[in-house]
Amino acid sequence: MSSYVRGLKCRECSREYPKAPLHVCEFCFGPLEVAYDYEGAGRTLTRDAVSRRPPSMWRFRELLPLDGEPTVGERVGGTPLVRAHRLEKQLHLRELWIKNDAVSFPTLSFKDRVVSVALSKAREFGMSTVACASTGNLANAVAANAAAAGLHAFVFIPHDLEQSKVLGTTVFGARVVGIRGTYDDVNRLCSEIAGKYGWGFVNVNLRPYYAEGSKSFAFELAEQLGWRLPQHVVVPMASGSLLTKIGKAFRELGALGLVDPAPVKLHGAQAAGCAPIVEAVNKGADLIKPVRRPETIAKSLAIGNPADGYYAIRAIRESGGHAAAVSDDEIVAAMRLLAQTEGIFAETAGGVTLAAALRLLEEEKLPRTESIVVSVTGNGLKTTDPLASRLDPPTLIGPSLKEFDALASKEA
Ligand SMILES: *Cc1c(COP(=O)(O)O)cnc(C)c1O
Ligand SMILES: [Zn+2]
Repeated sequence: MSSYVRGLKCRECSREYPKAPLHVCEFCFGPLEVAYDYEGAGRTLTRDAVSRRPPSMWRFRELLPLDGEPTVGERVGGTPLVRAHRLEKQLHLRELWIKNDAVSFPTLSFKDRVVSVALSKAREFGMSTVACASTGNLANAVAANAAAAGLHAFVFIPHDLEQSKVLGTTVFGARVVGIRGTYDDVNRLCSEIAGKYGWGFVNVNLRPYYAEGSKSFAFELAEQLGWRLPQHVVVPMASGSLLTKIGKAFRELGALGLVDPAPVKLHGAQAAGCAPIVEAVNKGADLIKPVRRPETIAKSLAIGNPADGYYAIRAIRESGGHAAAVSDDEIVAAMRLLAQTEGIFAETAGGVTLAAALRLLEEEKLPRTESIVVSVTGNGLKTTDPLASRLDPPTLIGPSLKEFDALASKEA
């Protein structure tokens, strides 16, 4: 297969760079982004070609930044898009969909998408050790995908992550280092380590490639809607990268003629205990005011100083979308609502996204008559702690029919 990656390009000054493990512009310190030859890509990436390929994210490989075939995460992607009929009815909506990356292979979050690109790219660069700074899901995805590919993995996390996210990393044999500090402290340390050790840090020196993997979430969504764009997408935000890449993916599909170009409003969701992007959007500010001490049960979104915050603000505003920050109680209520209407157990980040959608509906910023997609990006089994104190425990009886009859007669 030929590659349609032209190189890297600075988002601010447009200076071009070769395909290398670089992420900041030497001249203006702007972030680098992957640039493609769209004319070339459009020659082989057609609706027909896509539908004949295996159902993984790689069916859109012309718009993913590898030079050769993927060698890590070949099976990642192809998650369900579910029409949420029961939730539609309850909320009086015309058309509601859930894109469900809670069942992403292999580690149950959309981070498998970004990691399969980053690790395949690390291999192309000849790197044998990969690493990341993570709020949890990225740690799981790097550790699992590195294990399957025979790469060494170093994972750096804040010390207070959910137990299941820690176990779901160490089990794969990754070297896990807990840092006494916030995610932002972890990230700062990782920038220093990346410079010194020359490892492939998926969200530092491989970040331009890594971030492109998020586009596959939106490519799949459009294909699953019958090559049509939705009118609204509600997206959880940590660094803000996923939201900006969903916007980029829709523009690329339009430019290649795979869908009719149409405006899609991008709506951003964060937890109130760490909502720097939402606050900037709602204040009309251009710059992020970092949150020093994030405090929320949605730990996977708890980035106080989001790397792509500035671009996420712009993407939301330019699309005509909105943003909402929701409380921990609203997050748990939304997790339960999604589980009890659609049978989908999303992690706290999914609760954030649905709760934000509910808020935007209430504020009439999301019209009930238009098509809406809610992005579920991670699995509830990884974040059970906040539920334990809020759900009723099972009713306990002895193994006797009499005791059950007594119980049943009370329920009737
Ligand atoms: C990382 C993550 C996000 C958001 O990622 P960004 O691209 O950094 O905004 C959303 N949901 C879950 C579950 C995540 O783990
Ligand atoms: Zn620049």
